[in-house]
Amino acid sequence: MKSKLLSLTAAALLLLVGCDSLSGQQTSNDGRINAVTTVGMITDIIQQIGGEYVNVNGLMGPGIDPHLYRPTARNVQTLQNADIIFRGGLNLEGKMGEIFDRLNEQITVVAMAQDIPESELLDFPAYPGHFDPHIWFDVSLWAMGVNTAAEALAEIDPAHAETYAANAASYLQRLSALDAYITEAIATIPEAQRVMITAHDAFQYFGRRYNIQVAGLQGISTEAEAGVQDVQNLVSFIVDRQIPAIFVESSVPARTLEAVQEAARAQGWDVTIPAQLFSDAPGNAGTGEGTYIGMVLHNVAAITIGLGGTMPDLPDALADYHDVIERAVSA
Ligand SMILES: [Zn+2]
Repeated sequence: MKSKLLSLTAAALLLLVGCDSLSGQQTSNDGRINAVTTVGMITDIIQQIGGEYVNVNGLMGPGIDPHLYRPTARNVQTLQNADIIFRGGLNLEGKMGEIFDRLNEQITVVAMAQDIPESELLDFPAYPGHFDPHIWFDVSLWAMGVNTAAEALAEIDPAHAETYAANAASYLQRLSALDAYITEAIATIPEAQRVMITAHDAFQYFGRRYNIQVAGLQGISTEAEAGVQDVQNLVSFIVDRQIPAIFVESSVPARTLEAVQEAARAQGWDVTIPAQLFSDAPGNAGTGEGTYIGMVLHNVAAITIGLGGTMPDLPDALADYHDVIERAVSA
């Protein structure tokens, strides 16, 4: 019944847009490909690959939760006017599936995850029967998405295919440096403390790729709300293992983890909450943290320093992000 309602809503919105189009509204055409993206990580990638030939319109800004995002009528119009649409896939944009299905009849809709083999995907306990959509925290998986996006752009704009391939290749070199750097940074955390405790379930791929245990209240309990027993179990775990830090994300309320922090203090163990992590959206556009690489490096710095590791020197390919690390560490 829910999906029927959604599909009616989508149909109504598309009808509305149809009326608007009849009233004479046209997209301006400067000869560039008109790409529409969902989350900020994808917006950044398409800008990197598309360069001067692609106009990128990102629907979701900083702090937006893609799982719950409902497109506005204006968003639907923007999507309808696109030459190509890029989304995360794996149900990341949980409330937009119907609209993408409809648009896909006329417009190329690309999912960043579409070429990743199922064997590489993790189950998503929050939505049983679905794969975990947070693939961007394994840089090697996200790199597959970059290739997918570059090929899709080349297909709809063959005249600039060489440029897209070259842009993607140079960006992928930076991602390869990033992937190696994260492995190196996380490995500096003393092994007993290499545990990342968060309130959100966005970091399973990160944990698998970079060899750090990921634990959360919601991972311990299948209930949506963490119970008193969950909090007590987590506090005992933190105190026993002497975990120095726990982590809060930009799109999740801090309250639950602050309660854990207080309970640990009551048992004589001082656990810190370092700089907020980015989970499902990067920082403000125009800042280092507003890029995919910057958001990941911010998280890595907060996690590594928070858990007692040290940040290795940045490789030349990532030298632009020195300030991002400084800010994360001093926050
Ligand atoms: Zn998420």
